[in-house]
Amino acid sequence: ILNKVFLSMEKASGLEESFIIFREELLKNHIHSVFFLHNKEKKILVPYYYSFDTEILNRFAALTGKTFNALHISVGINEKYKKIIYEKETIFSPDVSNDLQKIVSFIPQYSLKSLIRSFGIQHSIMAPVIDQNEEVFGIFELFSDRLTQSNIPEVIAFANHLSFFLQKMEWMEDLRKNYDKLKRSYSKLKTSEKQYKDLFSNDLTGNYISTPEGKFLDCNQAFVKILGYNSKKEILNLNPAALYPDIKERKKIFESLKKNKKIINQEEDLIRKDGKKIHVLLNAYGEYDEQGKLVKNIGYIFDITKRKQYEKELIRAKEKAEESSRLKTAFLANMSHEIRTPLNAIMGFTELLQDESLSPEERKSYAGIIKTSGQQLLKIIGKILQISRIEAGGIEIKKEPFELIPFFKEIYTLYIKNKIVTDKELDIHLNIPEEKERFIVTDRERLFEIFQNLLDNAVKYTPQGKINFGYKIINNGSLEFFVKDTGIGIGPENLERIFHRFQQEDNTLTRKYEGIGLGLAITRDLIHLLGGEIRVESTPNKGSVFYFTLPFVPE
Ligand code: ADP
Repeated sequence: ILNKVFLSMEKASGLEESFIIFREELLKNHIHSVFFLHNKEKKILVPYYYSFDTEILNRFAALTGKTFNALHISVGINEKYKKIIYEKETIFSPDVSNDLQKIVSFIPQYSLKSLIRSFGIQHSIMAPVIDQNEEVFGIFELFSDRLTQSNIPEVIAFANHLSFFLQKMEWMEDLRKNYDKLKRSYSKLKTSEKQYKDLFSNDLTGNYISTPEGKFLDCNQAFVKILGYNSKKEILNLNPAALYPDIKERKKIFESLKKNKKIINQEEDLIRKDGKKIHVLLNAYGEYDEQGKLVKNIGYIFDITKRKQYEKELIRAKEKAEESSRLKTAFLANMSHEIRTPLNAIMGFTELLQDESLSPEERKSYAGIIKTSGQQLLKIIGKILQISRIEAGGIEIKKEPFELIPFFKEIYTLYIKNKIVTDKELDIHLNIPEEKERFIVTDRERLFEIFQNLLDNAVKYTPQGKINFGYKIINNGSLEFFVKDTGIGIGPENLERIFHRFQQEDNTLTRKYEGIGLGLAITRDLIHLLGGEIRVESTPNKGSVFYFTLPFVPE
């Protein structure tokens, strides 16, 4: 029944909904329970999830004058709670009314007794709900007239499930909240969240009974499924030792059962029938004969392979998010510098221009500086706008056939006249195959922008030497475009990083080359939008070649 409850809860889209399902599912099966959250600062417990039917809740309220929701119990009021929270014990309580008496001491004991009796919940088992750091954050209490000491392991297993569920749920809620904020940049988080949801549908508790001599006496279907076998019969014919990658592990389990009588939340590796390793959480207790000899190991396994894997993925996604937010901060610091430099030049030289005693040459030179600074500023703003357009998915691609030769000639003319190119005396060459004409179907404006970004970088990062650009026809008839320079090059450790937003080879503010680190990110995004790929080959101090392909569409 408890397994089924978790399968249903998996459908919840948030904590609130999960509570409703929890309550309904347990009530359907007449299981009364409460999960108290332990509030550390105030040392009180408050009911968090519970499954009592409305009639019980109403009668409780009528008798005590308190609604169940508003119940705050101080930890000290009941010694048992202390034991559970501080010593992580699980406690069987034969008479719930005694416990309740301590909380509502103004009600006569006999009224409580008869109330509890009429509900059919005389006994209870209280188990700690433990988080990943092995700390107790709540108490799960199951009530029924039919409970005995022997139900303790089941309640422990349920408390463990609940703990997993709540932690993941909470984590997911958290993700969802942050996710709204981070949505645009970290689409990865979404996949992790989705995968988290499948996780619950695959997790079931597998139960088994085995002997120290190495025989399975019984197991449930979930156990068979978790280990990838076809039938219970197959399992019963198996030597349990075969399930362990290391036989010593099984020995250790029996030793700790002998010593501590039980195993709680121990992580183990097991081998499935197909040879794949899985990671399980084991809870077990021993059964002993009259001489106190251990005769049976009764255990519950919970497959946490996926949980482990998703945990890793989530951590990666989280790190990425953090990295991104760190980069944004760096970007803002960097940006104000990048914007202020040309702006200061514009302001300063405009002021100087007002001086009437300037010679015509001086005037011309100042105006030139203002113009270059204005252009620089325009480029920066253009890039910021472009990246935000890309992030918002607002770039429209207009594919049309056009002729490549005039296209390249246009770019070539632009750069041959570029002031930085002439100042640095860079050699610029256009390399295109000898062809009469070559049509291509793609977005002309975007292709132009891609070349501009790559050529601007080639010009910027080449103090002297040559720049070649153009295209080659490669084996399958598609085109490979390239921009090659003999500049400062890029260290092998940075070849991948420079394509990321706000990333520069040198991210410090004292770097030699100005820039905001968006050009290559935009370039790669645009190439992806056009259906292509970009790569770079580079040797420090020798130069770099950026290559990119576009899908071949014959015209
Ligand atoms: P920006 O040039 O504004 O810093 P980009 O995204 O265009 O930003 O480039 C990112 C980084 O990649 C640059 O800071 C530089 O370190 C490196 N880079 C790009 N192109 C070249 C090149 N042709 N030669 C050497 N390094 C380059």
